[in-house]
Amino acid sequence: DSPIAEYHNQGKEMVDYVADYLEKIEERPVYPDLEPGYLRDLIPTEAPCEPESFEDLMQDVERVIMPGITHWHSPNFFAYFPAASSYPAMLADMLCGAIGCIGFSWAASPACTELETVMLDWLGKMLQLPECFIAGTHGHGGGVIQSTASEATLMSLLAARCKAVRRVQAVESERSESDVLSKLVAYTSDQAHSSVERAALIGAVMMRKVPTDEHFAVREEMLKKMVEEDKAAGLIPFYFCATLGTTPSCAFDHITKLGPLCNKENMWMHIDAAYAGSAFICPEFRPLLNGIEYADSFNFNPHKWLLINFDCSTMWVKKRTDIIGHWQIPLGRRFRSLKMWFVFRLYGLKGLQAHIRKQVALAKEFESLVQADNRFEICAEVILGLVCFRLKGSNELNQNLLKRITKSREIHLVPCQLSGRFVLRFAICARTTESRHIQRAWRHITQLAFELLQEQSESNKNKKILSLICVKSFLISSIWCLITKSCFSPEFYYAS
Ligand SMILES: *Cc1c(COP(=O)(O)O)cnc(C)c1O
Repeated sequence: DSPIAEYHNQGKEMVDYVADYLEKIEERPVYPDLEPGYLRDLIPTEAPCEPESFEDLMQDVERVIMPGITHWHSPNFFAYFPAASSYPAMLADMLCGAIGCIGFSWAASPACTELETVMLDWLGKMLQLPECFIAGTHGHGGGVIQSTASEATLMSLLAARCKAVRRVQAVESERSESDVLSKLVAYTSDQAHSSVERAALIGAVMMRKVPTDEHFAVREEMLKKMVEEDKAAGLIPFYFCATLGTTPSCAFDHITKLGPLCNKENMWMHIDAAYAGSAFICPEFRPLLNGIEYADSFNFNPHKWLLINFDCSTMWVKKRTDIIGHWQIPLGRRFRSLKMWFVFRLYGLKGLQAHIRKQVALAKEFESLVQADNRFEICAEVILGLVCFRLKGSNELNQNLLKRITKSREIHLVPCQLSGRFVLRFAICARTTESRHIQRAWRHITQLAFELLQEQSESNKNKKILSLICVKSFLISSIWCLITKSCFSPEFYYAS
């Protein structure tokens, strides 16, 4: 067959395979049962010399690949944060592959460059971003797609660093760039994503962690205090990365207060809303973004919660000129805005809002189940689709509970640390998650918790019995000692 005839057949087969996989994904254990290194033994040590058949290859997908997949799109997956996935986005990705352009300049594919700027405007308007962030208005801002939030943070930090050096040198022209760089200091929350600290490492600037309040949020006073101290020590505060929706507990820094402080201190404010950002398309959640008008840059991941498959991390800046030359790290760009266009048009704003609302409602449903069981406690306010909870008791107890959950492979969760406590995170992830999955997950968790607590109280009982036996034998031997008057001899103490 000609390659195109093969593609017609194989393409249809692949579409069917994908549809079947996703339709029946619930039947697969959500988490693989394998040891590291499992795959090498299942395939040859060399690439084939002669072409192989598509049928053989597809059989190996089931034999080699699927056993080693953690099924992120199973409705029994509640770990990390969601990874977005939808049919419109997958279809757009096929087309993106077919066009296969490397959009590094306008001429390299005008549609690739232009659709991206318009899609960022569409999305910016869905979020009701201030006009200054929208490229198609008279503002100086605009948006760009990055691969990840980590890259967006790094880009913003590099732009801020450049701007800070120019600002200082404009006043003190004798100061060398390396001198200024060595005095720059950036800030972020102690709850911020590890990528923020990494951006400072790559950008070779100091970064200080701002402590958070009892809701795990940064407040203005704390940042202000640190900035004052650092200025007094001759340092130059230049950058603050706020988080809206922290990774451990989905906490929100107080940007309406922090923003004016940053503006006053000439500090660049970047907002990392990687997960929570998608929710701001709903008017009821939009107040969480209030204060955005003070930000210099803003980023979130439609590839987390807005049904656009990885990778698609959208970033806006208030002044395009700040970031020219810093738009992104690689030269090449995929035609990622196609995925946005397909998803926005085939879902509509209403469809996207319905997705967010449904998932928040499912999180609330899980929260009420936890609240109704007095063996458990909720550990952070449930605002969006994440519930942090734990068994009342020790960290060890909760670690054991998670171990059992992971081992049983029926659902998948990951933990976090909140104020030194070991906490379970239950995030609504898959697009197809329904109430029945939440109910079943809770039954499963409480069953495992019941067994764990049962075994614990048995072993406590045993311990009590054991200690009773010990006490008894101690008494008996003491009496015996008194009788034999040998109780002060060292042998007695060692023996008991
Ligand atoms: C998930 C997450 C990130 C990392 O996102 P990437 O796109 O993988 O870099 C950064 N910040 C927050 C708050 C996150 O939740």
